[in-house]
Amino acid sequence: MNTNVQLPVIDEASINRLAAQAQPAIPVAGAAKDRLISRIRQLLREKDAVLVAHYYTDQDLQILADATGGCVSDSLEMARFGHSHPASTIMVAGVRFMGETAKILNPEKRVLMPTLEAECSLDLSCRSDIFSRFCDAHPDRTVVVYANTSAEVKARADWVVTSSIAGRVVEHLHQLGEKILWAPDRYLGGYIRKVTGADMLLWPGYCIVHDAFKAEGLAALRKSHPEAAVLVHPESPMEVINQADVVGSTTQLIRAAAALPHPLFIVATDHGIFHKMREVAPTKRFIEAPMGGTGATCLSCAHCPWMAMNGLANLAHALETGEGEILVDPEVGRQAMVSVKRMLDFAEKLKVQATDAANIVSPA
Ligand code: SF4
Repeated sequence: MNTNVQLPVIDEASINRLAAQAQPAIPVAGAAKDRLISRIRQLLREKDAVLVAHYYTDQDLQILADATGGCVSDSLEMARFGHSHPASTIMVAGVRFMGETAKILNPEKRVLMPTLEAECSLDLSCRSDIFSRFCDAHPDRTVVVYANTSAEVKARADWVVTSSIAGRVVEHLHQLGEKILWAPDRYLGGYIRKVTGADMLLWPGYCIVHDAFKAEGLAALRKSHPEAAVLVHPESPMEVINQADVVGSTTQLIRAAAALPHPLFIVATDHGIFHKMREVAPTKRFIEAPMGGTGATCLSCAHCPWMAMNGLANLAHALETGEGEILVDPEVGRQAMVSVKRMLDFAEKLKVQATDAANIVSPA
């Protein structure tokens, strides 16, 4: 490592301020909600559009995506689904980098989002100009970035990975003797480094939702619920990961909820995932892992403030008006496509889906 180059300092205050400013979607209920849902169904048909939603979005959006032939999934599967679907417009309910990934994989299609202001603290922590300089300072390292990054950062990377397949990719590179520059999630990177033993230089970003899960609270909750299994997303701190029965991506955790025999699950990830967990395991119970605070002291309260900006009303508005279109510079998109495709080809070669259960790791 070039010791003259310092790791960048994350501007936590700015990220926290943006998170606190995120406006949740306007709630709708009763007849107004029914009317909006009918209108969206009609608009999806009229505009030749398909709705893809992330597991962390409001359950009304997830239900609507499933009911209209769309999909509810993680970021990569959302993009791949949009790519294989014949619709000319992809409506992405999630955060901006997900819309950008959809656009990178589907440059010929129109990609819309309910709001373009839905950020991600990982994406915000990794400005492309600073990141690019950091990569330049470490030319001996293969650059692997998480999907939660801007199109420009993806374009600068050698590989883009999701949490489902990150361990496999790093293991592969490690076996080839390559040293890795990993960005932006320090917790996921640290976890993969521990599992694979790879030489990884970690960018210091983190997810404000998963960072808030607390190890002591989890230990106490676990003690009072010996019948529970603990499911942890690897964006959580290592002390929390160390207590997990299963560590995995969103899709992997949902599959674990269905597969494991436990009647109760303590879940360390965004509680938006409970909708799908209850769907696949209707007789089981799910509770949130303890966080750092509640109410005014809690930045996320186990729910991403930017995911919460997606709602029925702004989704209908975007479909109606075409506002909220994701645009990616074509040259940036072409470069980013190379590193995204590298992962897809790798997954294909391994004969695994990037969202499958092959990477579930049980440290317990
Ligand atoms: S939950 Fe965390 S990683 Fe996911 S979009 Fe929100 S801030 Fe980003």
